[in-house]
Amino acid sequence: MFSDTIAAVSTALGEGGIAIIRVSGPQAITQVTPLFRSRISLADAESHTVHYGHMISPVDGEKLEEVLVTVMKGPRSFTTEDVVEISAHGGIISVRRVMDLLLQQEIRLAEPGEFTKRAFLGGRIDLSQAEAVIDLIRSKSDRAFSVALKQVSGSLSEQIHLLRHSLIEMLAHIEVNIDYPEHDVESVTAEFIKDKSTEVMEGINKLLKTSNEGKILREGITTAIIGRPNVGKSSLLNALARDNKAIVTDIPGTTRDVIEEYVTINNIPLKLLDTAGIRETMDVVEKIGVERSRAAVVDADLILLVLNSNDELHADELALMEQFKGRQCICLMNKMDLPSKVDKETLLSFFEESSIVPMSILEEKGLDKLEEAISTLFFGGKLESGDLTYVSNVRHIALLKKAHRSLMDAYEAAEQRVPIDLIQIDVRLAWEQLGEIIGDTAADSLLDQIFSQFCLGK
Ligand code: GDP
Repeated sequence: MFSDTIAAVSTALGEGGIAIIRVSGPQAITQVTPLFRSRISLADAESHTVHYGHMISPVDGEKLEEVLVTVMKGPRSFTTEDVVEISAHGGIISVRRVMDLLLQQEIRLAEPGEFTKRAFLGGRIDLSQAEAVIDLIRSKSDRAFSVALKQVSGSLSEQIHLLRHSLIEMLAHIEVNIDYPEHDVESVTAEFIKDKSTEVMEGINKLLKTSNEGKILREGITTAIIGRPNVGKSSLLNALARDNKAIVTDIPGTTRDVIEEYVTINNIPLKLLDTAGIRETMDVVEKIGVERSRAAVVDADLILLVLNSNDELHADELALMEQFKGRQCICLMNKMDLPSKVDKETLLSFFEESSIVPMSILEEKGLDKLEEAISTLFFGGKLESGDLTYVSNVRHIALLKKAHRSLMDAYEAAEQRVPIDLIQIDVRLAWEQLGEIIGDTAADSLLDQIFSQFCLGK
């Protein structure tokens, strides 16, 4: 399908045990053959075999690197093209030598995501599966990984295919009636359209119902920890991080670096915001108060308000509770190992009982209760552990909603006995919108945008 052959380093750059350089395209094997010296010529190698040898200069035969080369002939490869994977030593010079050699041949550097794009265009995976590959790479929790893995294997695609199949049946039925109006089955058709579109809308709703949880599993619950100085915010953060080997990412470019930290409380992934702000207060003599953490609160899905239960409620704490009314907020009454001075009645006027969590971070008590409180708030109880297909991608969610809207239009039109050739337009639109999820009816610009999110070499 493509005439050119591409190459890129598929492992993370830097020092490591090995680095893998991937070559894909119609010329992959013939172009690498003169660069590789082994017991047999790469051109004669069978598909799916591994060969030990050296990368050599095609000019003077100088050995440049010791490698293992894997050959996978299309269409039985990730991209569906001929693929050669070169496992070299995991160092910067090693990788550069191999890449330089390749790029001197008729091979060009791959764009980010180009291998996966070829897999998609080669028909090996559809668009929703390709997007799940990005999710796999970016997963920050086990659950998110499992959800993505299921989608890579085509679980979502399967459901979309079923829904589209129903729509095709509808379209065929409508078509017949447009072509043979003398049968006078208009009224039957209106009922049929109403039934069928209801059925498909229910299917869409079922998928959309998973989207909240799916999005949370994928991205984590954006969480802000706030509270007055000395109530135990850093201690909480450290306790969460200790259990988790937190994954920390820097996002430069804002007024100051925002640091996000990913942790999970049992199965629930949290994305903690502004953890730097909290940690700093450890060292600063004049501790930064509530003001500082307010910035993080704006973006948060969940607010953890930490109180010192050994202290009476402060005016600014009451102000915060007032401010967070109607938001997803959990009140952590910390330091329960000390005598309690907090007026529970006041708390109950702001929070549900289930959102007030007594804990002692010092004695490591109460984290399980925190997990329960979060489950109640976000999942209405326990997180589903069955293998549901979750819709987690915002693009997919938006398209499902659009398709639902189109079918609703079809339904209402049928009810008002609108001519069926007009109803057909809505049904076809829904079919196209669902198709866009799996890339069946997606524009080139959309594809470019999606695949550009990938890292180089994927
Ligand atoms: P922050 O200013 O809100 O980040 O509070 P820190 O985490 O720095 O904690 C302030 C002080 O409270 C430290 O001396 C902690 O050891 C102590 N502390 C934290 N959690 C508890 C707890 O559950 N019980 C008791 N007694 N002390 C705690």
